[in-house]
Amino acid sequence: MKRRISILGSTGSIGRQALEVIEKLPDKFEIIALAAGSNTELLNEQIQKFKPKYACASHPENIVGAKTITFEEICSDKTNDIILVAVSGKIGLKPTITAINNGIDIALANKETLVMAGDIVMPLAKKRGVKIVPVDSEHCAIHQCIKDISQVEKLIITASGGPFLHKTVNDMKNATVSEALAHPRWNMGRKITVDSATLMNKGLEVIEAHHLFGMPYDKIDVVVHPQSIVHSAIEYKDGSVIAQLGLPSMHIPIQYAITYPERFEGIKSKSFSFSEIARLDFEEPDWNKFKALHIAYNSGKEGGSVPVCMNAANEEAVFAFLENKIRLFDIIDITEKMLEKHTKITTPTIDEIFEIDKEVRIQTKELISSLN
Ligand code: MG
Repeated sequence: MKRRISILGSTGSIGRQALEVIEKLPDKFEIIALAAGSNTELLNEQIQKFKPKYACASHPENIVGAKTITFEEICSDKTNDIILVAVSGKIGLKPTITAINNGIDIALANKETLVMAGDIVMPLAKKRGVKIVPVDSEHCAIHQCIKDISQVEKLIITASGGPFLHKTVNDMKNATVSEALAHPRWNMGRKITVDSATLMNKGLEVIEAHHLFGMPYDKIDVVVHPQSIVHSAIEYKDGSVIAQLGLPSMHIPIQYAITYPERFEGIKSKSFSFSEIARLDFEEPDWNKFKALHIAYNSGKEGGSVPVCMNAANEEAVFAFLENKIRLFDIIDITEKMLEKHTKITTPTIDEIFEIDKEVRIQTKELISSLN
């Protein structure tokens, strides 16, 4: 039987690669809906090719060839077996909750869902019997390694280290936007690429891992691994370490997430060769240079509304950096300043989460304009 799937964010980096995976497995999937933002031109090409029943975009009047629908309507449509949430930002959160409430499995590529509301989303998924399969390569790796979480001693998340791994703090301070966007291993969207340069992305992944696998923060390690071949690992209580390896391609984790628990050849381009890779390096992250990682661990441990504040402040600061309004290191200073000002709510509701997010963004923008 075909798996019925909808994709939120079909024109983004993950969405496009998911459609490449689906194209290779035409007898495995039926696409119910494709949802995009402003790129209606590409969405219309996708509609022509994949013939979804429904489509969604910020300008629905420009959609050709499919019935228009909203995010919420897609996530309420129980004909879906699985929804790939591949939008970036907080717009992924409410539709994901709707899908979970409707018993639809989730392939999760949206960071904010767990960073902002992991304490709400994970218990809800458990209650509804919904599977949340992570798409991010690190969490996908851990998902593949874990058989029984109660036997796991710790999670080991790998980080490529980004473009500034072996640069000095000064190089990093004076980095231009194009230097920060020159990621050595992964080709991703602009915001996540800047987060990878500061290692905030890894920090967000630590918070996600905490929620996804129910692991305390002191049992989640980060290790720098520049080759991006070991996508992450777990250590069992008896000292055995299981790692997942593969060539750095997002097609593999995307395919795993949407076909789980089955596996298919799909888009695999070449066979894995240890001798071709020849060596794998690992090192401790430089906590002074990559202060964002430290901030994320602390925010995660604080919990409640603190990661919401951190995420909003960081994102606004990254946008300002991309517009050349601030320097790379200012992203961290600004995020820290916003965290200092934040009054924590221990168990925020979804509405409170959105309210805090909005308020922090306004204040972060004010802080940034006061600097210029
Ligand atoms: Mg990742």
